[in-house]
Amino acid sequence: MLNIGLISKAPPINLTEIWTDFLREIKSNVTQMTFNTWFLPIKPLEISNSNIKVQLPSQFFWEWIDEHYKNLISKTIQNVLGEQISLTYIISEDAELIEPDKEIIPQIIEKTKAIPPKQESNAFLNPRYTFDNFIKGENNQLARAAATAISENPGGTSFNPLFLYGGVGLGKTHLMQAIGNKILENYSDKRIIYLPSDIFTVQFVESIKSDKVNEFSSFYRSMDVLIIDDIQFLIGKEKTQDLFFHIFNTLHQARKQIVLSSDKPPKDLKGLDERLISRFQWGLSADIQSPDLETRIAILKKKSEDYGLLVSDEILEYIASSITSNIRELEGCLIKLLANSSLNSKDINLDLAKRTVKEIATDRKINVSIDNITKTVCSALSIDENKLRDKTRKKEIVLARQLAMFFSKELTKSSLKTIGLHFGGRDHSTVIHSCNSIEKMQQEDSSIKTLVENLRSQIELACS
Ligand code: ADP
Ligand code: MG
Repeated sequence: MLNIGLISKAPPINLTEIWTDFLREIKSNVTQMTFNTWFLPIKPLEISNSNIKVQLPSQFFWEWIDEHYKNLISKTIQNVLGEQISLTYIISEDAELIEPDKEIIPQIIEKTKAIPPKQESNAFLNPRYTFDNFIKGENNQLARAAATAISENPGGTSFNPLFLYGGVGLGKTHLMQAIGNKILENYSDKRIIYLPSDIFTVQFVESIKSDKVNEFSSFYRSMDVLIIDDIQFLIGKEKTQDLFFHIFNTLHQARKQIVLSSDKPPKDLKGLDERLISRFQWGLSADIQSPDLETRIAILKKKSEDYGLLVSDEILEYIASSITSNIRELEGCLIKLLANSSLNSKDINLDLAKRTVKEIATDRKINVSIDNITKTVCSALSIDENKLRDKTRKKEIVLARQLAMFFSKELTKSSLKTIGLHFGGRDHSTVIHSCNSIEKMQQEDSSIKTLVENLRSQIELACS
C-alpha cells in the first residue's frame, strides 16, 4: 500500500463498495473494539487509478494506526483492490478545516513514528475479566451494582464518574475491565478506552515531545467511555492532571461515561488537584473491601474450576482462611499449588497446600520492610514518624506504634528484638504486647478490623 505502484489495470470505481469491502475484511481480522476505535472513524474521500484518499480525525490517530495496523491495512488494500495502490490521508479534526494533503510514504512514516501509544487501546482490555466471573460478595456489592448499571446505560446514570477505590488485589481492575467488555457487548458502536493512569502519563509526555498534545487530547475527548485505572499515579504530575481535567470536563459535559479507580477515596488523594478531587465526587464513589471468608472460598472455587483443577473443599477453605487480604494472592496461591503439584508429581493435598501458603507468606515478606510499614501507617493516620520512637503515650500515637509493630511482625521476617529497636529501643515483650492488643482490638471493634485490613492492603501496595 505504501509504495506508489505501477497500475496495470483500472481499479473498481465505486468508493463506497470498495470501502465496505475493506472494512469487512478488516473487521474479520481485529476485535470489535479495535474496529470501532480505529477503523470506523476513517472516512474514504476519493479513489483514483492509483490512490485512495481518506480522512482521519487526527495525526495522533494516524500514527497509532500506522504503528499497529500498517501491515494489516496494506494487505487488506491489496486484497480488495487486487493490486498495489497508495493511500493518501488528510487530517481533519473538524471536517471544515481540511489540511493540505499528506502523502503517506514509508520515509515519512519512519520520521513521524515517535508516537506515544505503545499498545493499542484494547491491548489493555482483557476479555478474561467479565461480570460473569466476578464473584459477588458483601465486600464489592455497591461497586459491582454500580458497574453493572453503567454498563447497561453508559453516561446515562448519575454514576458519572464512577469512582472505584480499595486496596491492592481486591478486584478494581477486574471490575473496570468488565465494564469495558460489557459496554462493548451492549453497544458495539461505542468508542471505549481503558488504560492505567501511568500509561496515560507516558503517552502525554511523549505527545509533548513530539508536539502532538492537541491530537492526544482530542483523541481522548472523542471517546464515549473513558476508563482510567489507578488514578493515584497522577499525584505529583501536575501537567498531566491539568490536561486530564480538561478531558474530564469535555466528556462529562457531553454525558460520556467516565470510570476511575484508585487505592483511596477521592478526598484522601493528597497532592491531587482539588478541582479533580471535587469532580471525582460528582458521581458515585464505591469502595471494594477485603472479601470475607465465604467470598474468598467462592472465588477460589470459581478460579480452580476455571483452571480445571480438582481441589477439595477442605483445601480451598484452608487457603481461604490463610490468605485473607488480597484476591490476587489467593489466585497466586492456587497457581503455585498447581505448579508445586505438577513439578513434584504430587497430588494436591492439604500438606502441599500448607507448604504453598508458607511459600507465599515468605515471598511476601521479602519485599516489606519495617520502614515502609512505618511510613504507610503514619501517613494513613497523619502522624509524624518520629513520634513512634518517642516515649509519648498519647492515644493515637500508641495505636500507630502498635499497628506498625503488629505489621512488622506479620509482614517482615524481622525478629521481635529488631522490631523493638526500630521503635525507640523497646524490648521484645512490648512488641508481643502490641501485637496481642491489636489482635484483641480487631475482635472487639470492627472499625479497627477494617483499619487493619486497609492498612495491610496499602502496605502491600507500597511494597509491590
Ligand atoms: P486490583 O485492581 O483491585 O488491584 P484486580 O482487579 O487486579 O485487583 O484483582 C486481582 C485478581 O483477583 C484478579 O485476577 C481478579 O480476577 C481477581 N478478583 C478480584 N475480585 C474478584 C471477584 N470478586 N471475583 C473473582 N475474581 C476476583
Ligand atoms: Mg488494579
